[in-house]
Amino acid sequence: MAIANIQSSAFLKMTTFNRREILVSFLGLSAAMAACRRTAAPPLPSGTIVGASDVFGHRLRDGMRVEVLKDAWINTPVVIVGGGVAGLSAARRLSRSGLKDFVLVELEKDPGGTSRSGSNQHISFPWGAHYIPAPMKENQELITLLAEIGIMEGSNGEGEPVIREEFLCRDPQERVFYKGRWYEGLYLHAGASEDDKKQFERFNSEIGRWVAWRDSRGRRAFTLPVSACSDDAEVTALDQISMGNWMNQHGFNSPRLRWWVDYACRDDYGMLLDQTSAWAGLFYFCSRVVKPNVDSQPLITWPEGNGRLVNHLFETAREQIQLNRAAVELIPVEESGRTRVDVITLDQEGRNPRGYRAEKVIFAAPQFVARYIIRPYRDTPPQHIAEFEYGSWMVSNLLLRDRPKPKSDRDFPMAWDNVLYESPSLGYVVATHQRSRDRGPTVFTYYYPLCDDNPGSARTRLLETDWAGWAEVTLADLSRAHSDIRDLVERLDVMRWGHAMIRPRTGFIWGRARREGAKPFRSIHFAHSELSGVALFEEAFDVGLRAADEVLKELRT
Ligand SMILES: Cc1cc2nc3c(=O)[nH]c(=O)nc-3n(C[C@H](O)[C@H](O)[C@H](O)COP(=O)(O)OP(=O)(O)OC[C@H]3O[C@@H](n4cnc5c(N)ncnc54)[C@H](O)[C@@H]3O)c2cc1C
Repeated sequence: MAIANIQSSAFLKMTTFNRREILVSFLGLSAAMAACRRTAAPPLPSGTIVGASDVFGHRLRDGMRVEVLKDAWINTPVVIVGGGVAGLSAARRLSRSGLKDFVLVELEKDPGGTSRSGSNQHISFPWGAHYIPAPMKENQELITLLAEIGIMEGSNGEGEPVIREEFLCRDPQERVFYKGRWYEGLYLHAGASEDDKKQFERFNSEIGRWVAWRDSRGRRAFTLPVSACSDDAEVTALDQISMGNWMNQHGFNSPRLRWWVDYACRDDYGMLLDQTSAWAGLFYFCSRVVKPNVDSQPLITWPEGNGRLVNHLFETAREQIQLNRAAVELIPVEESGRTRVDVITLDQEGRNPRGYRAEKVIFAAPQFVARYIIRPYRDTPPQHIAEFEYGSWMVSNLLLRDRPKPKSDRDFPMAWDNVLYESPSLGYVVATHQRSRDRGPTVFTYYYPLCDDNPGSARTRLLETDWAGWAEVTLADLSRAHSDIRDLVERLDVMRWGHAMIRPRTGFIWGRARREGAKPFRSIHFAHSELSGVALFEEAFDVGLRAADEVLKELRT
């Protein structure tokens, strides 16, 4: 199993493992895993795999051809394929611009893609995206959306938006578990040497330098969304080296600093320090800071994470959205000097074919799907598609009847985000945190990005491991910090995101593939967060709006 890269990364160097080296961190050695299951594995709670069925995806990949009956064709100006944040944002833009005659088809029974959420009787929780930073004043589109949702209070003296207190992540926000104890924050200050402290300071002043940087047009090096960032050669050169390399060049070898930056890359991109483009690594630290020497923008979150934003976007175009319906083929057709697109769709059971004759398509699904459903791409896929690489994530939601007991009085108390220093996982967020409920039932959302160098082998490991395997990984990992976790879990469900997010590896963000992928192809306009190179709400929202604007402009000419 190809997990050498995981084993070489900083966090495995300082550990005391068990439960078969925490299931050979994680599930690296299938034989060890099998042995572990046979020997005295503690019982598991109830639960299941939730979410997307791979069956439909595999059928698409096999090049499905479907006949649509004559009376099952509908004419419409626009079809949007995909009801993730990008597709929903495009739908909102069309609808707000007065174009109500369009259809959005979404393969799943719920909207939101990787930002969707779930709920049980008492608690809502995320299945993927769980926060956004408060936008800066330049991101007016996002500010308008947040005002619409009712979370804006106004703006401060510098014109920066002010978010209502109850929607900002409340304290304590973050803690890290290291060698048997919880500490405040994500950077491990406790036990730092003089050299660690100096490097931490020097790293922060380097970030400050980039935050203050402006190009000749006054653009920041790093801001949200990516489309507003400078394309000056001094900045884009950072995309040519990895973040690990950049740290080496600057003499940043402090293990805890490297762990912190590695954690940031895993958290936002599902990649290790040495895999991530230095541009993307610096983007993480700089794009959410208004000016040097101030804190990052505060975080906005809800119990259901970004599911709250999804539900709002969904309501703005509910009537045009068809859930449980997938586009299986897009056929560009030349007619009277124009190209229309015939969109063939099926319900999730693969039945009830329906066709749409559309003047324009907004393709808000990933490029790897385009490869199989845009008819001309099937035989001759454009070269750029193969360069879009996707990471895999396992997310589990644990319903607990009560909170784990602290190990000692010295433990920093439970926070919203709880990270395990010595684990390849990212730890967990607590769904009831925003409700100020610090006792009683809750849901922990546990995140594990599979960071293998080869995304294909990570995907295989993700999909070949069954529910029991991932439930065991979750519980064994969390048991490092919470010895009573197994007694407290009532239910544990697992989502396997096979194509969770685009990988901003070295050379991708400012490379040719991303530019090519964003170009329209015969009345098909592309809109997916992957086109910005980093998987974030702001990016999906931005590409969705831009694709809708392109389409509206062309329809009006
Ligand atoms: C585990 C995880 C945690 C994350 N955490 C955060 C976070 O905290 N904050 C943040 O900002 N971002 C986060 N992200 C990233 C964020 O979820 C995405 O950037 C954003 O939601 C992507 O939206 P999208 O519309 O571009 O793509 P997607 O979410 O991929 O949506 C694409 C949609 O297209 C549909 N589709 C695919 N094929 C077809 C077809 N043939 N027909 C019809 N529909 C189809 C899919 O079902 C899906 O709904 C996270 C992602 C993951 C996986």
